[in-house]
Amino acid sequence: MEKVSLYLSLGSNQGDREWNIETALSLLNIELKTPYKAVSSIHETEPWGFDSAAKFLNVAVLYELELPKGYNPEAEGLIILETCKEIERKLGRSSGPEYDKRGERVYHDRPIDIDILLFGDNIIDCEELTVPHKLMYERDFVMKPLSEIKL
Ligand code: AMP
Repeated sequence: MEKVSLYLSLGSNQGDREWNIETALSLLNIELKTPYKAVSSIHETEPWGFDSAAKFLNVAVLYELELPKGYNPEAEGLIILETCKEIERKLGRSSGPEYDKRGERVYHDRPIDIDILLFGDNIIDCEELTVPHKLMYERDFVMKPLSEIKL
């Protein structure tokens, strides 16, 4: 087995935002079969990419996974992505990503958003998943919490 660091970003701007984040973390602990190793403080941030009066609460979290030596990064990454999406659905996130006529992403208020930031040293680039996360370095709401826990 080998230890692999997984960094996730969680955000919520709808409903009881703290409860959403705490519940998502509890569900991640169960689904990833290990308690998180580190979590950042909670940052309140303006919505990014869309107009809304509802500010976000954001955290970054680190898990240390035990994976078989020689594991397939894309296959494992997609399982983790599916786990994140399942938790988003459980917490009431209704639909998948939406796009406008020009093909630009349309963002909405959401009870919870979970993104995979880093997964060991792996570089993954398939249709459903890009790791390191494509926009993470441009987003303060990701980088500030991440910098608190990045070893
Ligand atoms: P969002 O609504 O911003 O969470 O985007 C969700 C979509 O982005 C999902 O359907 C994923 O297939 C895709 N995606 C690509 N790379 C990532 C990533 N690193 N973490 C989470 N979602 C990703």
